[in-house]
Amino acid sequence: MGHVSSPVHYQNYIGGEFVPAGAGETRENRCPADGELLGQAPWSQSSDIDAAVAAAKAAFPGWRDTPAPVRGDRVAKLSRLIEDRASDWGRALSLEEGKVFGEGRGEVLKTLKYLNFAAGDARRMTGITAPSELPGTFAFTTWRPHGVVGLITPWNFPVCIPLWKIAPAIIAGNTVVLKPAPETPWTAHLIAQAVAECGFPAGVVNVVHGDAEPAKALIEHPDVHAISFTGSTEVGRIIEARCGALHKPIQCELGGKNPIIIFDDADVEKAAIATAFGAFGSTGQRCTATSRAIVHESVADAYVAAVTELGKAVVPGHPLDSATTMGPSVSQRQLDQVLKYMAIGEGEAHKVLGGGRATANGLDRGYFPNPTLFDHVDPTCRIATEEIFGPVLSVIRFSTVDQAVTAANGVKYGLTSAVYTSNIGTAFDLINRLDTGMTQVNSPTPGGEGHLPFGGIKATGTGPREMGPDAWRFYAESKTVYINHGGAKRTGSFY
Ligand code: NAD
Repeated sequence: MGHVSSPVHYQNYIGGEFVPAGAGETRENRCPADGELLGQAPWSQSSDIDAAVAAAKAAFPGWRDTPAPVRGDRVAKLSRLIEDRASDWGRALSLEEGKVFGEGRGEVLKTLKYLNFAAGDARRMTGITAPSELPGTFAFTTWRPHGVVGLITPWNFPVCIPLWKIAPAIIAGNTVVLKPAPETPWTAHLIAQAVAECGFPAGVVNVVHGDAEPAKALIEHPDVHAISFTGSTEVGRIIEARCGALHKPIQCELGGKNPIIIFDDADVEKAAIATAFGAFGSTGQRCTATSRAIVHESVADAYVAAVTELGKAVVPGHPLDSATTMGPSVSQRQLDQVLKYMAIGEGEAHKVLGGGRATANGLDRGYFPNPTLFDHVDPTCRIATEEIFGPVLSVIRFSTVDQAVTAANGVKYGLTSAVYTSNIGTAFDLINRLDTGMTQVNSPTPGGEGHLPFGGIKATGTGPREMGPDAWRFYAESKTVYINHGGAKRTGSFY
């Protein structure tokens, strides 16, 4: 029996109207767990982006001139509306992305916390005042929005990531065009519907479905003044280059290859639980997933045995089935990538667990990789350095702290890291030495709170962090103002 009574026809949301793609083309949206048809999404072209940017441009002056606290109040209203629908959204998210329902609903609830925080930011967008060298002059800074901002997002957090870009962009006074991932159009449509019901002025938020063509058109459009992108490092590199050439502010959050480092004084059982959660949870499809375990040789055997047991206990299945603990990869393409790395790993290291697909009990209708663990992995080999984005863990053994740090930092990525130790000195040493934008001590690599900055360095991140108290700053330009108010007699010439 299917999970949707009838497939939903999503539409683009442009200038406050739901419209099909101009060329009338659509693509099917199917559940990655069993192929169920969930809906049809518009397959947009550059002309759809032209229409959306025109709507956003027309809406910009009115939205810019709306007081920031009022803009924030709208975001708070959006949050309340989504809260009432958290379970429905979580269900849709699970059906189209594949993460289990608890994770899907959890993503929605986490998004609300950030929306509420961002709504308050609308009242905290402060500048500075400073004494001027000039008599009778008052000097201060203020913030101006860029204008129309383009937002391009991936499928793996299809509620969180679009909204953690939309909220700071619009509280800062921009209007936006969102181009969500083609794998998750349903959740993007739900976001558009919520925006429509919240009474935002037409054109403040626009959503154009599709893949690379509308995304490229958004980047190139002369009326789009900044781009925020989350996705793969490969695509991010192209976008960074184009935005550099076009002098457009760019924010990129890209791939990861996150290590968990386990010292000989760590609680090995807790570290193993954190690893299994980080490596196999969400089918390894979090940017913050744990993909490398760098383990002191004296505890490595016990640790590998514990993680292996936890991996065996994973129950792959339909994301809405309450017995399921791991859903599918999002697509055939993603599963193929995971299987490719499993095959590479067979030639590079010692496989302890998993490998291949899970196909029993009807799982062959979906894209289910088996939780997989490779041991005695060389830190420089491909499975230890390239992003796999599936439930595949590489265990690297070390004997000295320097070896552990060298292995951890020896990849191009720099999103997050975890350190398990009972020695506070070791923890602080590693916090200082690990080349990642975030570090967790005695807690798993995934995680992040809306009021704290989120993001990475090296090939993981360009531009300022998302979330946290400064997220809106990417979406605004600082302006320095000098007002000669004549309140004191000038004593000299400025020139
Ligand atoms: P992707 O790069 O394939 O696609 C992301 C978006 O870019 C999609 O909307 C897609 O349509 C668009 N796109 C594709 N080709 C394009 C092009 N040539 N020009 C412009 N846009 C283009 O990434 P994905 O598979 O959707 O997402 C998975 C990736 O995202 C992983 O690498 C993951 O680590 C990363 N990610 C990073 C973070 C973070 O915060 N660092 C968070 C989530 C996901």
